[in-house]
Amino acid sequence: MKRAKGHSLQNTTHQPIEGRCPSCRHQVTFNHIGQDLYATGSGVVFGFRICPTPACQQIIAYADREHVINFWPAERLDFDPNGVPDTVVDTFEEALTCYAEGCFRTAAMAVRLTLETICDEQGAEGEKLFQRIDALVEKVVLPKQLLEVMHDIRWLGNDAAHIELKKFKGVGPEEVGAAIELTKEIMKGLYQLDSLVQRLRALKKTEGPSAS
Ligand SMILES: [Zn+2]
Repeated sequence: MKRAKGHSLQNTTHQPIEGRCPSCRHQVTFNHIGQDLYATGSGVVFGFRICPTPACQQIIAYADREHVINFWPAERLDFDPNGVPDTVVDTFEEALTCYAEGCFRTAAMAVRLTLETICDEQGAEGEKLFQRIDALVEKVVLPKQLLEVMHDIRWLGNDAAHIELKKFKGVGPEEVGAAIELTKEIMKGLYQLDSLVQRLRALKKTEGPSAS
């Protein structure tokens, strides 16, 4: 790769770069390392930053083109994997990676696959995914809207895999972003609510009045 003709590089002042670290996922202000550079005539400032979280210290490259900032590795959506089975986490992480890199159709297919993995893990059986989702709905306790939306997520994944869209107007950041957020809520309900309840119960006194 060559640098385009007509630009020279100048040292420039360090600007604060904030964002969600692609590695530890904390929302941070990155520390600068090295010198930021400005490519004259291009409007692009670029440089390196390091995550301030001591256990992380992920290095990122960034470029700021007229206040639109991109990271490499890309900034990722937040996700708490605590309590979620590894097989489900692995599939969902693929969806988050594809989304972060702007591969929205592939992300939608990976979100659909996450639902399939959840069905597997929960023992919800059926020949097709819609039958397995129906079986899952019978087995688990979740708010009605979350149960209903599983079929929409399935359809979004189907649309993503075909040239002709059947149910959605598009498979872009808004549609896939909503599917990712809803899948996180489904996982919270299935895998994380119990441990939160247990955490609060563990903080209660062991003996006490039976009523107040
Ligand atoms: Zn980090």
